[in-house]
Amino acid sequence: MNDGNCSDAATNGGIGGGASATVRRADGQVYVDARAMERLVGVIFERAGCDAEEAHRIAWRLTGANLRGHDSHGVLRTRRYLEWMEDGAVFPGRRIEVERETGVLAVIDGDYGFGQTVGEQTVDLGVAKAREHGVAVTALKNAGHLGRIGDWAERAAESDCASIHMVNVRGSLIVAPYGAIERRGSTSPFCAGVPRPGAPPIVHDFATSVVAEGKAMVALHGGKPLPGDALVDADGNDTSDPRPLYGETPPGRTPDPHAGPGALNAFGLHKGSGLNFFMEMFGGALTGSGTAAALGDTGKRRFCNGMLSIYMHVGAFHDDDWFAREVSAYVEYWKAARPSRPGGEVLVPGEKERRTMAERRESGLPLPEGAWADILAAAEKVGMSGGEVDAALS
Ligand code: NAD
Repeated sequence: MNDGNCSDAATNGGIGGGASATVRRADGQVYVDARAMERLVGVIFERAGCDAEEAHRIAWRLTGANLRGHDSHGVLRTRRYLEWMEDGAVFPGRRIEVERETGVLAVIDGDYGFGQTVGEQTVDLGVAKAREHGVAVTALKNAGHLGRIGDWAERAAESDCASIHMVNVRGSLIVAPYGAIERRGSTSPFCAGVPRPGAPPIVHDFATSVVAEGKAMVALHGGKPLPGDALVDADGNDTSDPRPLYGETPPGRTPDPHAGPGALNAFGLHKGSGLNFFMEMFGGALTGSGTAAALGDTGKRRFCNGMLSIYMHVGAFHDDDWFAREVSAYVEYWKAARPSRPGGEVLVPGEKERRTMAERRESGLPLPEGAWADILAAAEKVGMSGGEVDAALS
């Protein structure tokens, strides 16, 4: 085990990324300083054709997901995003198009722009409307992958807005409804947040499946095991085995979550399954983006995120700081509940992410060797030399 700074470029695919003091190895993982990672991923997207501002926005948001512990929505996505650009599935430099608008509503076409870009533009428009009228709704369709949805509640909270975000994933059929084996939807995330003056907002953000697909992939590769109800197999039995999602993967091929005979389970039995259904109603149907699929489809629908967001400007509800005081008092009350296990602790939503962020700012972002090799391969793909990779990391 090497727990010092690494200087073996050969283990990184031979294009650098190893000699920098911002990369080290410990416990079988690679740790990359978050700011260095952000710089590297930013340069990769710039080389791939994004302008500098957008490239660094994408890099900042992906790195931010890793910092908060949501690796499945972080820099791991770099290579896939580049492939999407190449395939014309997602485009740099897009501006949202407002198709219908009133004082409190905007129906928006994201035109397959990067989610990090059209998501931000959408939230900024919604917040501006809510600050003028008290409340507002944005309905975003055809967005590129919107990443970690908590980003959008945090952005709204910066402008003193509480918000709710309901998201579907058109074209992704990997989740079975409660009581079913066949897939009818996706991991469709739900997110809600409230601002706290002088303190981080409280944000709850989760997929409406028992586990996100990225976690099933990790388990498939022998990583952290899944809970016993994560999937349903072809015979209708709950299982922690991820293979019913992927089927048999031929050697050398990437496991395909659309290929297996089973599915991921929706979380929370019938209640969570119903919430998953409503992500399709709001994020898919009401936005105009389209549901994951529907009867009459002959092929797979084009991948995109749809997001329905509701913004509430706190200042429109209260003249004084009553809301802030009530929220603070309730957080204290919540956290003071007696733990169910000796030494246990009660957390509020978002607290785990903030703790992980504080730790990872110090330790660097932990990545399996394969994931780091993938990022270096992405750098190589866009023509970066080893020296350029090391310069970005320094
Ligand atoms: P998760 O299961 O880790 O749940 C996260 C939520 O639970 C957070 O709000 C967290 O603060 C809270 N939480 C965690 N542990 C807690 C504890 N001990 N006590 C109290 N609260 C606790 O998240 P997930 O379902 O794996 O989702 C991961 C990410 O994937 C999310 O950011 C989501 O937006 C994203 N996602 C995106 C898409 C997309 O299409 N863009 C699809 C699916 C998921």
